[in-house]
Amino acid sequence: MALVQAKNIDLHLPYQQLPTKKQKKITIHCLEYGHSDQKVEYISLTPETDVIKSRLQCIKCINGPYSHFRQQVAVLEEVLSDCMNVMKHTHFQGNFYQEFSNLYHSLKFDISKDDIKFKCATIRKQFLYLIQEFEQDLLQNYDKYQELYDKIKQQVDNLKTVFDFSELQGHLENYAKQGPNPPPKSQKNINNVLNDYVKKLHEEVTQEKKQTDLDSLKTKINEFTKKSCFHIHKLDQGMENIQNIIEEMKKTFSPNNFTQSQLSNDYISEVLKKIDKDYVDFTKVEKIKNLYSSIHEGLKYDVVLNHLQKEESSKLLFIFKCSNSQIFGAYISPTLTSSLLFSLSKEQIYTLKINKKPLKYNKDANDNSELFSLGDQDLIIQSSFTKCRSKLGSLFDLSGYSIANHEMHLANAVEFEIVALEIFKL
Ligand SMILES: [Zn+2]
Repeated sequence: MALVQAKNIDLHLPYQQLPTKKQKKITIHCLEYGHSDQKVEYISLTPETDVIKSRLQCIKCINGPYSHFRQQVAVLEEVLSDCMNVMKHTHFQGNFYQEFSNLYHSLKFDISKDDIKFKCATIRKQFLYLIQEFEQDLLQNYDKYQELYDKIKQQVDNLKTVFDFSELQGHLENYAKQGPNPPPKSQKNINNVLNDYVKKLHEEVTQEKKQTDLDSLKTKINEFTKKSCFHIHKLDQGMENIQNIIEEMKKTFSPNNFTQSQLSNDYISEVLKKIDKDYVDFTKVEKIKNLYSSIHEGLKYDVVLNHLQKEESSKLLFIFKCSNSQIFGAYISPTLTSSLLFSLSKEQIYTLKINKKPLKYNKDANDNSELFSLGDQDLIIQSSFTKCRSKLGSLFDLSGYSIANHEMHLANAVEFEIVALEIFKL
């Protein structure tokens, strides 16, 4: 059921947010038995007239009696705002108008400049809110941090007297006033004062002082770091990540012609060209069939397993997105040697080393087991899509790239979570 709901939300979401997509509504009650509490939201476009009672359907209809025809409905509200949306979500194989509609929607002509301005204003507002919230949070944590620090302050103050530099600072300031050629006597004096200071730093301390001051400070600092550590560099790291994300957003207009994939970046064109040089042709790329998208259907291991079993002799293209935004994928071909593993984030392609089947799936997978692997250990996906692993170079060739850590390279982590997956049939 969750699968259907996810799909349903996705059908509605993109346009509601955009101001130019004026919502037009016609309220019609569903006539299907037991659906009188539901409003009609869909128009069935199923070609056979005898398999459905009514073309006007509600959410209960497409989840229940007509679930087999879920891929054959138009969203009424979307059609009312623009008739070009009629075949936007359908998949009628070999239908001329379906192909025309797919081409039209691949270009996204229905999005205006005002929509873009609205999107950017929304992002700006959300971003400012998040930053404000983050700052408050950080300052609150700093207060707690300060409370902890106050507990060790006395000991720090006791020990730091030896570092006191104020007297030396006075000497150095006077010495500096004597200009670039101070008299030899002054040179000797300043050196003596510094010698005394350094001597104190190297003085042997008593065992008792060590135990009462240093050892007890050690214990307290250990307690302190267990509770809270201050990683100030994370702020700069975070900003760097934000800049990278904005660079990626700048590619909203880009020559990537694989519009069916919502996960891929521009580098996918290179991957597709490597798979088959015919994919320089936009219309060929548009013909690639989307078998599964977790964005629409939710991450479901049983659905993925079902596709893997059914499409064992097909050419399959996988695209994964990790929780840390790394994007990578694989192309698995029955003619084994043309199979590829690739990283879209790092813009790298790895070819198969030996003529051995790179895709192995676990037909007995349950929700707590391994689901499938690509290239022995190059990529191992769990049914839960968490705790996935990668050991690059097991079956795919890494030559041409300098890869320091084979287990960290693909996902920037030894264990990682997959948050989105697309599977295409080529
Ligand atoms: Zn209904």
